[in-house]
Amino acid sequence: MIALAFTSAFVRGEEPFSFDNTPGKLPKDIVPIRYSIDLAPNLDLATFFGEEVIEVEVVNPTQKIVLNSLGLEITHGTLVLASGALSLPAPRIDAAEQTASFTLKKVLEPGRCTIRLSFAGKLTEAPEGLYISRFQKDGKDRRALATQFEATDARRMFPCWDEPVFKATFSLGVTVPSRFQVVSNMPASAPEPVLSDLVKYRFAESPKMSTYLLALCIGDFEKIEDEVDGIQLRIFVTPGKLEQARYAMEATKKIVRFYNEYFGVKYPLPKLDQVALPSTGAGGMENWGCIVYNDNALLYDPATSSQQTRERVFAVVAHEIAHQWFGDLVTMAWWDNLWLNEGFASWMGTKATDHFNPDWKVWLRASGSKNAAMRLDARATTHPIQRQIANEADAIDSFDEITYSKGQAVLRMIESWLGEDPFRDGIRGYMKEHAYSSSTTEDLWRALAKSSGKPVHDLASGWTEQPGFPVVRLGLQTESPDTTVTLSQERFTIHQLDAAPLLWQIPVVIGPAGDPEHGAVLLLKGKDPERLVFDPDIAIKANLGDRGYFRSEYSAPLFKRLRKAVPHLAEVDRLNLLDDTWALVEAGRTPPADYLDLADAIADHPTPTELGQIIGVLGYIDTLERGTPNQAGFRAWAIRFLQPHLAPLGWDAKPGETPLESNLRASLIRALGLFGDPGTLREARARFVQFLEDPASLNGNLRGPVFLTVGRNADDATWEKMHSLARNADSFEQKRALYAALTSVRDPELAAKALALALTTELIAPDAARIVARVSFDGEHPDLAWNFAREHLEALLEKLPANGVNDYVPGIFRGFTDAARADELEAFAKANLPPAVSHSVAKAADEIRFQAEFKQRALPEIDAWWKEKK
Ligand SMILES: [Zn+2]
Repeated sequence: MIALAFTSAFVRGEEPFSFDNTPGKLPKDIVPIRYSIDLAPNLDLATFFGEEVIEVEVVNPTQKIVLNSLGLEITHGTLVLASGALSLPAPRIDAAEQTASFTLKKVLEPGRCTIRLSFAGKLTEAPEGLYISRFQKDGKDRRALATQFEATDARRMFPCWDEPVFKATFSLGVTVPSRFQVVSNMPASAPEPVLSDLVKYRFAESPKMSTYLLALCIGDFEKIEDEVDGIQLRIFVTPGKLEQARYAMEATKKIVRFYNEYFGVKYPLPKLDQVALPSTGAGGMENWGCIVYNDNALLYDPATSSQQTRERVFAVVAHEIAHQWFGDLVTMAWWDNLWLNEGFASWMGTKATDHFNPDWKVWLRASGSKNAAMRLDARATTHPIQRQIANEADAIDSFDEITYSKGQAVLRMIESWLGEDPFRDGIRGYMKEHAYSSSTTEDLWRALAKSSGKPVHDLASGWTEQPGFPVVRLGLQTESPDTTVTLSQERFTIHQLDAAPLLWQIPVVIGPAGDPEHGAVLLLKGKDPERLVFDPDIAIKANLGDRGYFRSEYSAPLFKRLRKAVPHLAEVDRLNLLDDTWALVEAGRTPPADYLDLADAIADHPTPTELGQIIGVLGYIDTLERGTPNQAGFRAWAIRFLQPHLAPLGWDAKPGETPLESNLRASLIRALGLFGDPGTLREARARFVQFLEDPASLNGNLRGPVFLTVGRNADDATWEKMHSLARNADSFEQKRALYAALTSVRDPELAAKALALALTTELIAPDAARIVARVSFDGEHPDLAWNFAREHLEALLEKLPANGVNDYVPGIFRGFTDAARADELEAFAKANLPPAVSHSVAKAADEIRFQAEFKQRALPEIDAWWKEKK
């Protein structure tokens, strides 16, 4: 067997890109230059045939050709040398390594040659490789074909060097029934007739790019067209949804122009297509020039969609289009640097969304995803942003909150430290230097150091190469002549006893509370405390403007002053204080009353984002209260606490209200519904009845919360009515909202009915399988759900793509909060699930154990607090 040694023995962030030193599994003796691929899919038989001609460069003498292939039958191979053509022997297929290898009789000497392969594969509904995307139109089943290759599934459609560093050009041809439209990375030729109703398209040759970015969509699509800066823009949708694509097109035009300017390199392809399908492998996939979205991430119906959907569409489009540069034009060399793609696209997408929609306050709301990442990052199961990726399972596993949200937050902190202009100049230099090529994190640090003149590597590498993050502790010293505030750092952990003590270089923006734009920047580097002289009477706030990725912990007198100063704090700083204080509660560094008192004070005049944070914590406390005698009391208190905030908003949108107020109304109704407020339930039911008569009567923003509240409390007849609406819903957004309502039902018999839907084909396969986790957590029936899943596990796992399998059983267990369940999960996984699930299992088990511990530690105090407030 050929040695497929992993060369990634350690994280290599400190080295600039070099092809030879890039980790990976495939040997680098042969390098692909150009692929010419011809495909003939057959939807009726669910198969496809393909032929490819790969021009390669033999770099080192070798007797073996090793490339990736998964689930394909390679029927014939030819090697074309200058001296003539010879048939390749049958390949050795290694299913575990996902490779096909040809052993040659003679050594292949360095130089160019060509490999021709014929192959066949199967089309499935799991969204990986070339797959069938099934949907309903007018009650009939319809099908389209689409690809999802990232991270490691191009090899399911054609044998190839399926690692991102092997960039090559692609010339794709496809034979399809003439009624279909085809979309790929590059423009298509005019169709050529082949047989009866078959035609053949050939797409123009792509620039050099990675295999995971190749794309192909085939279907009975409708499209809208536009143009920006000389780039042709098209959006393809399944029939009947054209009008819902207009908002995304408007967003696209703004975003492309913004990025053309920001990156200093114009969008490099002649056209940018976007395709919306009801069933996909991801919310959005950034294939170069052919972005594929799930319907719910691209389509917006002004009449029936929610404000949340509008914001999501803009944000996802901004994220995927940012990838056209960061990821597609310049690609991370190996999956250990995936954050370069995802952290950057997240940050850039949020920046663009904020630029065009300042009233959405997206950075304030991005603190939600930052806090979710910090919560995971404080735990024993976290990992550095850059980490060793040994195989396909690791690569799939790395698409997580640390990569996306911590990546985004760390970039924002570095941008803030360097300044917006030097940061952008560095990005422009990086783009120019690495276009059509690959890069590592170190290349980015060097480009930013060049533009800013600051030692970027020294500060940044601690944040990307170490797990976790620090807490900055602020103390007060009054003995000396001047009052000084001391700042020191230590690693911040939750539910983790033996964490390695790490240090960071932390740019701490600090100053008088209430003035987020005029803080001083103090670079906290080592173990020793730093001192700052302050007016003894003012309140001090660290992380002013909340651009830092760390927690702040104030000594009691400093916290007391800060609490008094709360009315004068900027919204961003109040939100940061709420987030930090709750995290300190979870970490056991401060009592729950500190958070609850703060929330209570802020709730006097809260902004929608602040109230959103508080609603989030109340919802979390509610999950801890499940099954305790205090849950009903807590809910009653939470209802009294939240009701006064819904009253001024009312149920109906007011003229001139802000998007944040519309969103807040929806989340208040959702929360009051969850806590069982009778008034909310009554109103939701009345509006649902009215909706049945006249769908237009229910505003898009209210549909989700109304369906959820009614569904949760549904009786037999209501549940059936909702089910029939869900089955026949044309809009994906509405379908999702209705199924979410059906699976949140409290009645155990109806919950069992909801579980049974997971085995039907009325939903797309992955959504059907995920019903079980919803019944467990949202429906509050973890036992019922787990028993069902255990009984039908094989059938359920079959519905998921490889990247959904690892998280599946752990996701169902997240409905439990007692420690014995963590043991059960681990034992079950060990005996019944593949080793690739181990990280997901460890994360879920740690979360269950933490919640069990936290419940014991904090609930008595929390309960005492709200009982006091009665
Ligand atoms: Zn992305």
